[in-house]
Amino acid sequence: MTLRPFGHFFLPGPTDVRPEVLQGMVRGMLPHRGAEFEALFARLVAGLQGVFRTSRPVFISSSSATGLMEAAVRATPPGRVLSVVNGAFSERFARIARACGRETEVLEVEWGRGADPARVREALRAHRFAAVTVVHSESSTGALTDVRTISDLAHEAGAACLVDSVTGIGATPVETDAWGLDFVLTGSQKALALPPGLAFGVASAAFIASATRGEQRGVYFDLVEFEEYARRNQTPNTPALPLLYALDAQLPRIAAEGVEARWARHAAMAARMHAWVAETATVIGAPLAILAPAGERSHTVSAVRLPEGIAGDAVVRGAAARGYVIGDGYGRLKGSTFRVGHMGDHTLETLEGCLAACGEALAELRGVSGR
Ligand SMILES: *Cc1c(COP(=O)(O)O)cnc(C)c1O
Repeated sequence: MTLRPFGHFFLPGPTDVRPEVLQGMVRGMLPHRGAEFEALFARLVAGLQGVFRTSRPVFISSSSATGLMEAAVRATPPGRVLSVVNGAFSERFARIARACGRETEVLEVEWGRGADPARVREALRAHRFAAVTVVHSESSTGALTDVRTISDLAHEAGAACLVDSVTGIGATPVETDAWGLDFVLTGSQKALALPPGLAFGVASAAFIASATRGEQRGVYFDLVEFEEYARRNQTPNTPALPLLYALDAQLPRIAAEGVEARWARHAAMAARMHAWVAETATVIGAPLAILAPAGERSHTVSAVRLPEGIAGDAVVRGAAARGYVIGDGYGRLKGSTFRVGHMGDHTLETLEGCLAACGEALAELRGVSGR
């Protein structure tokens, strides 16, 4: 068994996991109906409440993040859904709403941009909706949306707001309680720097109360059940214990850094990424740009638009040859972009190594000498 040394894995999910967190998974099994488990669960929820900035129970789902996207739709009281779509993950939210039998209106936003509140307001005025789905940090394009404003607009129109903050939570400011979010979710393998396989979500008391009116909640992803079990410090079904152990190893590390310091570290990494793109365009003598405009950029994922003649997968291979894993373009941006996930436990220092590798790869592809 080999462990790649930490600091070389920059996918926009899963993200690099520190060896001590991976090693934290190696613990014996526990009965999940018992005092020892309940103590573990209570400790995990307390740590996650700090990350989500909430006093509500934090649901721990043994699924990837998509599971809780579906749970959120299923918990929505009867009515139409408005899906703000500005990339592949927000498109997935719309697809889930439709697949769960909801009449779904899509508000199309240019890929690479955040949602424009004025257009959301307009759509909410034209029809009545039970819920709005929105993605905070669109990992396919690297665009950031002001979800607080979208949530406020939804509430003014009498709709709930379901927020996918999968690459937001733990990296970008989110104040679940202070902003009055109805439902917000993330996955373990993004900014929390855990192995994949868990999803975390918080529902407001009002959203859970309205969910009891819903008749299509299913079983595995029923948020009303999550809430009932969370009150007893349990999960409805057998949880992925090794992943809970990893979380138990990681949460004290997150608390020691402090969630606000974590937000600041991610803002600094994003700023470095943006500066590097501008510098590198000069070095290689070709246009290279962050896809999202300034002010609408994710703190965790950057999609970099490539000049004609350089393909995303060639950059990925060039970085790999130098020991770094980065992401190809996603969905319809495959080919024309590459993506760097500067999130989780990465630092300005580890990012610098990744950017040097990307810079060398780009210089080689352009046939100019690197730095
Ligand atoms: C990764 C990601 C998801 C999906 O997560 P899974 O854990 O693969 O289900 C959803 N939304 C966003 C914004 C993501 O980055």
